[in-house]
Amino acid sequence: MHVYSDPALERHVNDLSGVENPERFPAAVAGVEEAERGGTPVEWPPCRPAGGEEILAVHEPAYLDRLRGLSDAGGGYLDPDTAMGPGSFEAAALASGAACGAVESALGGEPSLAAIRPPGHHAGAGYAMGFCLLNHAAVAAAYARSLGVERVAVLDWDVHHGNGTQDVFYADGAVLYLSTHRSPFYPGTGRVGETGEGEGRGFTANVPLPARSGEDVYAAVFAGVLVPMLREFDPGLVVVSAGYDAHAADPLGGMGLEAGSFGRFAALICAAAREVGAPPPAFVLEGGYDLGALTQSVAATVRGAYEDAPEWEYAGGVRPVEEARSALAPFWKSLR
Ligand SMILES: [Zn+2]
Repeated sequence: MHVYSDPALERHVNDLSGVENPERFPAAVAGVEEAERGGTPVEWPPCRPAGGEEILAVHEPAYLDRLRGLSDAGGGYLDPDTAMGPGSFEAAALASGAACGAVESALGGEPSLAAIRPPGHHAGAGYAMGFCLLNHAAVAAAYARSLGVERVAVLDWDVHHGNGTQDVFYADGAVLYLSTHRSPFYPGTGRVGETGEGEGRGFTANVPLPARSGEDVYAAVFAGVLVPMLREFDPGLVVVSAGYDAHAADPLGGMGLEAGSFGRFAALICAAAREVGAPPPAFVLEGGYDLGALTQSVAATVRGAYEDAPEWEYAGGVRPVEEARSALAPFWKSLR
């Protein structure tokens, strides 16, 4: 596993968020180190900040200027949950750069992880939201496209819907956005009927789940929706928005996963990528606010990239899965 990270990611302080705090960074890194001590091969290539061109493939120039200006001025407020301090722009640009580094490693045949903060998937082209400044997974997907990858899948297992990522690619048929998340819940988007528009019709997939869903429900979502769609889409790269706030111990999420669940998700996505001849996935850290659960879940993901996939099959009868399948069946043969 190639892991991209930088100590400057700890210097972003969001004083509106009680939970998206600098301690998350060493907690995530500790997870990688734990997997490494257990024998998983880990390398730490150097991490660079994303350049203007990479960021501007996703974000509006005026928004980028605003972020940079606020950070240079010592900080400021962007939405009810999202603040910047003097180190915030540097951290966000490094986090997006880490995601681009992860894309390079993945395309070179190595599974990779951007161990970063702040998270990114609520940020849209021109807005910050929900602790997120720049949308690293979206920057990674756009970067892969700029390197010649025709089709990129972004799979988002964070407990929150990635409204920013969905917005960025909603009318884009070259990027398939797949999300499973708690609903009704923050940020309020990600209903099953949101399936894309224009050239992107059918290329957004949402599987909203009730609170306290556990691994059995997620297994049905993977086997019944996400993996069949990944196979049929046949991407040249899979970017995973890997949030860990669906862990049972998370103070925000209210779901029922355990750390090992994320390892099984990782193994399954790696296997699906292999099946379609795609390189291994690039994992990009999103949320996850219980520090111990974050460490254990990151460790499980890193290990999972080298483990056998679970044999999950969808036998029918799981309501959220049935609803997503019927909404998406007009676009996807594998769901009919
Ligand atoms: Zn989240």
